[in-house]
This record gives sequence, C-alpha cells and structure tokens, in this order.
Amino acid sequence: MDVRVDLDYARALDEADELAHYREEFVLDEPDLTYLNGNSLGRAPKRTLIRMQRALTQEWGQRLIRAWSEGWYDAPVTIGSKIAQLIGARADECIVADSTSVNFFKLVLAALRMLRARGSRRNKIVTDDLNFPSDLYILQGIGDLLEGGLRLEVVKSPDGISVPHEAIEAAIDEDTALVTLSHTAFKSGFTYDIPRVTKAAHEAGALVLWDVSHSVGALPIQLSDCRADLAVGCTYKYLNGGPGSPAFLYIRKDLQPELGNPITGWFGQRVPFEFALDYEPARDLRRFLSGTPSILSLIAIEPSVDLMLKAGIERLRAKSVAQTEYLIALWQAVLEPLGFELASPRDSERRGSHVSLAHPEGLRIDRALVERMKIVPDFRAPDNIRMGLAPLYTSYGDIHHAVMQLRTVVTERLYEKYSTEMPTVT
Ligand SMILES: *Cc1c(COP(=O)(O)O)cnc(C)c1O
Repeated sequence: MDVRVDLDYARALDEADELAHYREEFVLDEPDLTYLNGNSLGRAPKRTLIRMQRALTQEWGQRLIRAWSEGWYDAPVTIGSKIAQLIGARADECIVADSTSVNFFKLVLAALRMLRARGSRRNKIVTDDLNFPSDLYILQGIGDLLEGGLRLEVVKSPDGISVPHEAIEAAIDEDTALVTLSHTAFKSGFTYDIPRVTKAAHEAGALVLWDVSHSVGALPIQLSDCRADLAVGCTYKYLNGGPGSPAFLYIRKDLQPELGNPITGWFGQRVPFEFALDYEPARDLRRFLSGTPSILSLIAIEPSVDLMLKAGIERLRAKSVAQTEYLIALWQAVLEPLGFELASPRDSERRGSHVSLAHPEGLRIDRALVERMKIVPDFRAPDNIRMGLAPLYTSYGDIHHAVMQLRTVVTERLYEKYSTEMPTVT
C-alpha cells in the first residue's frame, strides 16, 4: 500500500469511504475522543437508544407481561436468524442465548455426549494457546466434570502471533473428538481459515466448534458452506449490542436433533408454558435456551445487526482490510523507528480487524493515551496496545490521530508519569 503519513491523505481516504456516513448512526457525544476499542465494547447506535426507550416505556411500562407474546418470546430466534446472515448460516441455525462462555460450555458437553451416544470413544480436544482464556477455562472445567475422561491438547503458537495451520492439522488424530479455536485470536488478531481447519477435522472424524466472537461483524464467516458443526460468538464487540449483551450459538441443521442441551431449563422445553413435570426438548434450536432470556439486553442487539446487514459484511470487510493496512503502513513509517513492534499478522487474509503493537513500555503508553490524549485503545498484557478498528464507525482520521499521538507520547516521554500498575479492567 502506497501510503502518505500526512493528515490530508487520511482525510482523502475518509472522503472516498462509501461507508463513512454510518459513523453518524452512533452516539458521538465526545467529539474529541478517539475510540479504538470497538472489538471489546462497540459504540452505542442511536437507533438502539430509541429502541430501548420503546422497550422500557411501551413494552415493559405499558404492555407488561403481554409483551412476551408480542415479540419477546420469539426474540432469541428472530434476532438469531439475522445474526445467521452475518455468519453464513441458515436462519434456523443460530439462536441468541446466555453468554459466550455458557454457550461454549453447553456446546462442548453436547458434542461430547453426542459422540458417546454414537459409540465413539474419542476423548481428545484440540485447541491452541492463542484462544480466549474463558474457552480454555471452560474446557478445563469440563475435564474436571468428566473426572479425567478428557485430554486437552493445546497447540502452541511459535511466536505468540499466529499458529501454522499445519500444526493444528498435525494435532488432529483418530482420538480427537473436537477441535475448538477462536476464529480470530483476541490478542494478535490472527485469523484461521475456517474451511481448511473444518475439513481437516472432518477428515479425521472430529467435530469443530468455532468461537467467532472477535470476527462477527468485521469479516465474513461461512459456517454452513463448509459444514462447520458448531459455533459461538459474542454480541457486544463488533455487533455493538451493549455491555454484557447475550451471545449466540450456531448448530448445523442436521446435527440439531442429535444434540442435547446439558442445561435443561424450561425455555428449552418443547412447550414451556404447559409446565409439565418432565423435560422434553424443543424440536428446534430453542432447545439450547435454558432460563428466561435477558430481554432488554437481547433486544438491544437488533438495531446494530440491522445496520450491519444494510452496510453489507463484504463491504465492511473491505474497509476493515484497507484500514488495518493503513494502520500498519503508518506504524512502519512512524512507530517502528520508536521501538514498536507489529504483534499482528502481516498478511491481511490472516488478520481480523484489530492490530496489536507491542512496546516494552506498552502499559504506561496506554495509560498516557487514555488519560492525556483521549485515545482509547486496549491493553493486553504483557506489552500489547491493541487497536480495534470497527469499520462501521472508525475513520481514517481516527487512525491517523492515534498514530501521531502515540509518537508524541513516546518522543516526549509523556508515559513516564504513569504507573506500571495494572488496572482491574483493561
Ligand atoms: C470476548 C470473547 C468471549 C467473551 O465471553 P463472555 O462469556 O461473553 O464473557 C469469548 N470468546 C472470545 C474469543 C472472545 O473474544
């Protein structure tokens, strides 16, 4: 990419950006704030504020319990079917429920139990050390629950940035029950080739479970096409669902009748409002609901998903690639000489929508950015400053500004004033 480092060039890129007007769809009450954390907590869409006002005053306030049959009861399915379009799934293959961690727990156990029921004795799970810790914790917890009946193989990244596909393929054998990976790694932004890994797992007779939390809404995902078995994902990152908004899960259509939810709550019962004493699973994906959904948080997801569908995931991906390329070009010209290293893949095909820059003073530089420069990236220990570019609202001007301020923080040694103590939430 032939990039100039001057501000006029950034402005010209913004002017040529056909998605630029979507920025106006978001609450921007602090115009001098540069927000580069949309991969951790997306911005609030204005439409969501209006939607929530209606949910509170009309639905809850006036309609009360009648609102359950006026949209609330079906919301996990209707909103799930919209998210399905973003992950290359059929409408009836995706439902919104619980948190990503809880969905991950349900699907891993369901997959292992299904294999047992089919007579399989496979007991190995393949994952990697770039995976999101919660997923690894859940796998460890399931290992404890099964009292030693499970073997976890954690493939190591040679450089902390990416994992060669060959290393995953080599770890999959005839004892492998499940391969589960984050599609896009939360720290480096490394992105797996879903069809390739899925094919390798299937050829060895194993199932795959993708965690697409750091991909959904930023890059196209094709789950059905390559017959991926299972997936989970988060809605408060690029999907802008709001803090703690419920997650989604995907199960390939033909597997649904065979998979049982290990948390057999009444919302997954075939007819919950009959209040029968015995559990009988719903015939469709609703069986993967457990208790009453968090309705207010759930309906907050929808306006942003609608915006994304309108913008189009292919166009969002094209902008995201152009923006991460631009950021990397600026890093090379301005920040590399100051001791910043690129801690993300160089090849855009293997990269999601965030870029990590490592610096020995990363934590204090991050503090200086947040507290003095009004730039909000993310920090991931030990030294990664993570810049999330959300193509729906991040501008080229934001990226340019962040890089220039990073330069100032380092050349003027502004970070020296800040503590090396880790804050509770980063
Ligand atoms: C953010 C994220 C999660 C979040 O899980 P929660 O249960 O919502 O806290 C899970 N997996 C990945 C890969 C993530 O990036």
